[in-house]
Amino acid sequence: MAEPDWLADGLDHIWLPYAQMKTAPRPVAVKSTHGARIVLHDGRELIDGIGSWWTAVHGYNHPHLIGAVRKQLEVMPHVMLGGLAHEQAYRLASRLAALLPGDLSKVFFCESGSVAVEVAMKIAVQYWRNTTGEVRPKFLAFRGGYHGDTFAAMSVCDPEDSMHSLFGPALPQQHIVDLPTDEGRAGELDRALAEHRDIAAVIVEPLLQGAGGMRMHDAATLRRMREACDRHGVLLIFDEIFTGFGRLGAMFASDLSGVTPDIVTLGKALTGGVTPLAATVASRRVYEAFHSDDASKALMHGPTYMGHAAGCAAANASLDLFESEPRLEQVKTIEAHYHDALMPLKGVTGVADVRILGSVAAVEMRDAFDIQALRRSFMEQGVFIRPIGKAIYLAPAYTIAGEDLARLTEAICLTVEKLTR
Ligand SMILES: *Cc1c(COP(=O)(O)O)cnc(C)c1O
Repeated sequence: MAEPDWLADGLDHIWLPYAQMKTAPRPVAVKSTHGARIVLHDGRELIDGIGSWWTAVHGYNHPHLIGAVRKQLEVMPHVMLGGLAHEQAYRLASRLAALLPGDLSKVFFCESGSVAVEVAMKIAVQYWRNTTGEVRPKFLAFRGGYHGDTFAAMSVCDPEDSMHSLFGPALPQQHIVDLPTDEGRAGELDRALAEHRDIAAVIVEPLLQGAGGMRMHDAATLRRMREACDRHGVLLIFDEIFTGFGRLGAMFASDLSGVTPDIVTLGKALTGGVTPLAATVASRRVYEAFHSDDASKALMHGPTYMGHAAGCAAANASLDLFESEPRLEQVKTIEAHYHDALMPLKGVTGVADVRILGSVAAVEMRDAFDIQALRRSFMEQGVFIRPIGKAIYLAPAYTIAGEDLARLTEAICLTVEKLTR
C-alpha cells in the first residue's frame, strides 16, 4: 500500500522531535492502535516496546480511559482554573494527594513534564525568598540526569550527555555532581551543599535516570541525598515524570525507596497516554511558605490549559484502573520475564550491562552502534524499540500480553547476537 498523501504533503511542513530533518528517516504512518500494538498504514502491526514515550501504561485505547474522556468532552471539554472550578481537576488533586507519600498534598497542574519541572524550580526559589528572604537561585543536579527541554529544565540535565550541550552558554550554571551511590560520592554532595549556600534545591530522577540512558541506583543513594538535604536545609525535588504510576513496581519511586521528597513532579503516564497533563506536588511545609496575607508571596504561574478537564478525566480514569486492575502485579510479571529472558545477556562479550527494574529493562552495549539501522531492523522484526545512546531498552504497557513481551525480548536477544557476532 502506498504511503498516505498526508504524510508526503505534511513532511514539507512538519518539524520532528530530536531530528536532523535533512537526514532523518521517514517516519512510518500509523493508522490506529490497540493494546500494546501499533497498526501501520500498510496494515502491518508492531508490538510497542516503549508505549509512546512511556505514557501508555494501560495499553492503547483502554475502553475505561476512552469512555471517561468521551463523557467529559460531551459535558465540558475544559474551563479555565482561574476563577472557575471543575470536578475532574479537584477530584484528581485529592486523589493524588491521597496516593503520594508523606504530606505531598498541594497539586499544581500544567500540560507537560518540562513545565512541571520549571514550576518545581520556581517554587523552590521562591520558598527561600518567602521564608528566610535568601536569594537562592541555583540547583544541584546529577550527572546522567534528564529533566526536560525547556531552559531551566535543560540547566539541570547532564551537561555533557544531554542533547542540550549546545545551549550551555545560554543556561543558568548549576551545580552538577555524581549521584551519591557510595560514601565517597555522598561526601562530594555534602561538601557541595555546605559550600554553595545559593542552592535552593536538589533535583533527581529517583531510582532510575531515564532519558540519560536507563541508569539505575538504589534506595540508599536517595537516603544519603535526603540526609544531606536535611543537614543543609535544602529542598529535595523528585522528578517522577518517568518513574511514577507503577513504572518501577510501586506506585511511585518514593514508595519503593521509602524516601519522601519535598516536591515531586508527575507527567507522562499520569493520563495513561491519552492526553498531555503534568503536575507539580509540594509538601504542606513548602506550600505554607506561600500561604500568607502578603500577595507577593503567591506563586505566579498559570498555564492556559492548566488542569485540562478532559486530561484530568483521563488521569482519574487511569487511577481507577490502578485500583480495579492488577497493574503492579503485571509489572512484577514483566520484571520476572526480563530476568529470565534478558539477564543471561549479561555474560555476553560486547554487552556492558543488563539493568532491570519493574517494567524497565536496558541492555547496554559496550560499543556504539548504528542507531538508525537498529531501529529499522527492529521494525522489520515487527517490534517498535528505540535505543538511546548505547542502551537498548523496554518500557512497555503493563498490560502487554506474555507472547508480545516475549517477542520484544527475543528481538533484543537476536539483535544483541547480531551486534556481538
Ligand atoms: C520526559 C521527562 C521530562 C519532560 O517531560 P515532557 O512532558 O516531555 O516535557 C522530564 N523529566 C523526566 C524524568 C522525563 O522522563
